[in-house]
Amino acid sequence: MKTMLLTMALAMGVCLGVNAQIKIGGKKIDTKKVLNAAEDVGKAITLSDADIVAISKEYIDWMDENNPVAGPDTEMGARLERLTSNLKGVDGLNLNFKVYYVVDVNAFACGDGSIRVCGGLMEVMDDAEVMAVIGHEIGHVVSTDVKDAMKNAYLRSAAKNVVGAAGGVAQALTDSQLGELADAFGDAQFSQKQEYAADDHAFKFCIQNDIDPYGMANALDKLVDLSSGAKSSTVQKMFSSHPDSEKRAKRMREKADDYTK
Ligand SMILES: [Zn+2]
Repeated sequence: MKTMLLTMALAMGVCLGVNAQIKIGGKKIDTKKVLNAAEDVGKAITLSDADIVAISKEYIDWMDENNPVAGPDTEMGARLERLTSNLKGVDGLNLNFKVYYVVDVNAFACGDGSIRVCGGLMEVMDDAEVMAVIGHEIGHVVSTDVKDAMKNAYLRSAAKNVVGAAGGVAQALTDSQLGELADAFGDAQFSQKQEYAADDHAFKFCIQNDIDPYGMANALDKLVDLSSGAKSSTVQKMFSSHPDSEKRAKRMREKADDYTK
């Protein structure tokens, strides 16, 4: 995730990775100081589910604006559209998909039902593998993993300070606040339990949608392979947010073996 964000940050001409100092209102401030000062305010903030969805929406709009989106007129964009045209919604959430033309082998979901796939992943994976990864990401949405991660990221970012002062989340976040939020959300890591649950969701998703039951196992195997090859830098970070990929691949393969037996 970090690698991806960094790539995107470079594309934007800003480095999100180095954010000890950010600009708010044209004034450079020390993020760490703000975060410490805001600690008490942050604790008093309660975020409703609707608040988190609203923040997620703002975040993803900002990501879409600041990343090279491969539109439906591009090969990658058309492929993703073809693959996901039947996936409209899950648990009352509308799903929407886009591909970012960045080299990273990654994908992520947001609490509002937005799923973003990086070009690097589209390049190395076949249709079944891409769909399995999408099923995995939908799993993180369904289980509210991404909403929880967004909530934590929000409360860790400087944005909460402004919200605390203004007394509501309805107000639009500034570019710097969204940058902060992106950085905090990008650092979010899911637990092994959450990853296993998302893998299980991917497996079910493949079966339900008539996709190769080995899709997830193959996708994970590919990630394991890539992590030791020349493209390792593009997958490295995905591994820290997706621990034990080898174990996970084996688990998925056994599941598919059982199913196809
Ligand atoms: Zn995951």
